Amino acid sequence: MLRKGCSDKMTTNLGNGMADVREVADKVYRFETPIAGMFYTPVVYLIDAPSGVLIEPGPAAAMPSIQKAMAQLGMKDLSYIIPTHIHVDHGGGAGALAKHFPNAKVVAHPRGAKHLASPERLVESTKLVWGQDFEQNLGPIIPIPESQLKAMEDGEAILIGDRQLQIIHALGHSPHHIVILDRRLNGLFCGEALGLPGHQLPPVAPYSFEQDAYMATIDSLSRLDFDALFYSHGSIEREPGRLMSRALENARLYSSIILETARSGNAPDDIMLLVSEDFHRRFGQRLPKGDLEILVAGYMIYFKSKGMLA
Ligand SMILES: [Zn+2]
Repeated sequence: MLRKGCSDKMTTNLGNGMADVREVADKVYRFETPIAGMFYTPVVYLIDAPSGVLIEPGPAAAMPSIQKAMAQLGMKDLSYIIPTHIHVDHGGGAGALAKHFPNAKVVAHPRGAKHLASPERLVESTKLVWGQDFEQNLGPIIPIPESQLKAMEDGEAILIGDRQLQIIHALGHSPHHIVILDRRLNGLFCGEALGLPGHQLPPVAPYSFEQDAYMATIDSLSRLDFDALFYSHGSIEREPGRLMSRALENARLYSSIILETARSGNAPDDIMLLVSEDFHRRFGQRLPKGDLEILVAGYMIYFKSKGMLA
């Protein structure tokens, strides 16, 4: 897991095999919630404002870790729970958390808010990706009362003490993705809108990814002025410009390699090998097998759903 750029001002050991809680920026705490069966470990950010803010609740199975972390930090309540999007590994536990913290509002893209209020379709699509029995590992997805939902338009902000959190719609990875710009930190909580940290590969989530929207989002966010990225499956990175250009380059490059080689009749294993060799030649690093599988399978599903691949 990436650590570069972390200020690591404070570490609180949660014991019982739990991840450390680290202060990674002014009153912003980060910890990981490893979940069985999840390749990318969910990350939670807690902002210790006058009333607490939680970014990325993760699946409901992460809730005990969140409660322990809050107890360690002396945080008693939450005013806002902000999943960057409603995929189960980011927002699946928002309902369980909202029930536990009835004063909290759950912030979401208007399209995401509808599914959080009535999660039937969300549960169905979660079963498609994570299996019929996803609740066993990830915990349940429960509805959030309308009174606790705060659908936010592009550019709207919430104020917590002297902190302004601006919500920016950032579609592509999913049709309900938002990012959160903290002007005080000059940092962006970017979820999966700008690719996966480490190699900046496109996060091609089955059934929700849209390549054009993803690239348009990176292009428009790269025009904003901020100097740190707070990743949801990684840590904090300080060179947003370089990372965003690489994310764009990777999306262009690997989508076309995968499409062309699939159209020429290559099997997924051969396509993975070709992508792996190209990546190694270009960047001098080997991609982990899990990353390769997710990238190739994700793009194949995407191209088939668009009728670009038989
Ligand atoms: Zn996602």
